[in-house]
Amino acid sequence: MAQVNSLAGSLFMVAAPSGAGKSTLVNALLAQESDLKLSISYTTRPPRPGEENGREYHFTTVEDFLVRKDNHEFLEYAEVHGNYYGTSRILINQFMQAGTDMLLEIDWQGTQQVKKQFPQAVGIFILPPSIAALEQRLKKRGQDSEHVITKRLLAAGGEIAHAGEFEYVIINQEFEVALSELAAIVKATRCRFNQQAARNVDLFAQFSIHANFS
Ligand code: 5GP
Repeated sequence: MAQVNSLAGSLFMVAAPSGAGKSTLVNALLAQESDLKLSISYTTRPPRPGEENGREYHFTTVEDFLVRKDNHEFLEYAEVHGNYYGTSRILINQFMQAGTDMLLEIDWQGTQQVKKQFPQAVGIFILPPSIAALEQRLKKRGQDSEHVITKRLLAAGGEIAHAGEFEYVIINQEFEVALSELAAIVKATRCRFNQQAARNVDLFAQFSIHANFS
């Protein structure tokens, strides 16, 4: 199994209960940070209206997903709301080795699995400003049935219970504030010693700065 070069790109994991506004925030971040790439997950969930295969997700069958899982194709995978979701190990390997920063939109289960393999990965949890706001946002989305919404509201509590496992928490009350906080975390992570040393090898050599990459 190919090992990822942990010195090159940074790995960000963004989790939230459904309805916290995670995807909108992440999409806005990606639009302004051209050097940050979103990992497109595999899922057995059917596409929602407007979603495209290969853009939001690689949509696949349970059979195909389980074959990929058995072939160790996933860096992490989890069952969320009754569907399987997984992150492609090959894709992460490719981009990380090229020094590209990657963002994973995954749940707490996936975050725990990635942390075990990459302790330097940065966990960011997005919180809605209140339970009422969460409920309102879930209903407004209007893409899922009442049954799905109720299931996700119940699941939200379970997801939030794991917020304490993340390095950063962003409260998505005002979109622009939350976005600037998210961008600040990305920028600060890029300035970590090891990241700078990996990106600026010649400069560090000129100043005889030696990194401790332990
Ligand atoms: P949705 O179906 O609303 O797009 O996503 C449902 C949940 O699955 C979200 O919490 C999302 O973060 C999570 N999710 C999406 N892709 C992955 C993945 O590759 N791995 C894991 N563990 N969770 C994922």
